[in-house]
Amino acid sequence: MSTPEKRSHAVETHWEHAVTWGVLGLLCLLVGLFFVRYGYDWLGVNFTSLSFPFLAAGPLLLGYAGYRIWASRKEPVFTSQCPYCSTYIEFTSAPEEDFVCDSCNRRVPVQNGKVLEVTGVRCGYCGALNYMSDKTEVLICEQCDREIPLLNPITGEMRHAPRGFARVDDEGVYELLLVDVGREREAVITSLQHMLALNRNQVKDMLDNVPVTLLTGINRRKAEMLRAQLEASGASAEFAQIGTAASPGSQT
Ligand SMILES: [Zn+2]
Ligand SMILES: [Zn+2]
Repeated sequence: MSTPEKRSHAVETHWEHAVTWGVLGLLCLLVGLFFVRYGYDWLGVNFTSLSFPFLAAGPLLLGYAGYRIWASRKEPVFTSQCPYCSTYIEFTSAPEEDFVCDSCNRRVPVQNGKVLEVTGVRCGYCGALNYMSDKTEVLICEQCDREIPLLNPITGEMRHAPRGFARVDDEGVYELLLVDVGREREAVITSLQHMLALNRNQVKDMLDNVPVTLLTGINRRKAEMLRAQLEASGASAEFAQIGTAASPGSQT
């Protein structure tokens, strides 16, 4: 396996060869004809026979040049799309390895012959937008060179976590649902008091109506954090996406 060859590059190589050998072929023919025309009487010696190899080689070289032009048209086309800038890139065979996009100069991740999707991740240190794919093991911020911890965009779990933080661009709006209070009722009450800024009686009333919606309109990060808190108190909670934050120009 090697870096996939871009079709434009392959075609260019063919043409370089075609031009080089074509020019040489023409020169051979000219030299051959020169000997034919003027070689018969140089200082009393006949040089005409010297024209034969040139006259033989010229058409061969021109033929080869022609073959390269023909071959350049016959190069197979495999088209891949850059996941960053959506530019189409043509290869002579399906890419098996990462390649660099001609248009945006980013490294395009490839796995099993397929271009991988990329997800935007904002650097938690400087806010710069970086990209990761399923293949990304370690992500270094393009802007500040610090390592960004990787969250799996689907499960929200940490894939690789250095010190610091980052967030996956997730425009979802979630609601948090208390499903079961569990056995440590007191701990859950205390936890909810802090979480919801309610007094003890208000929380107790809520717990009489389980399952109950605790919060709506929160982001995924917060939903995950609160669920983890509740589970630590022995309760079980769930969160569900209820919508998408209106934010022009972004996509999930
Ligand atoms: Zn690109
Ligand atoms: Zn950064």
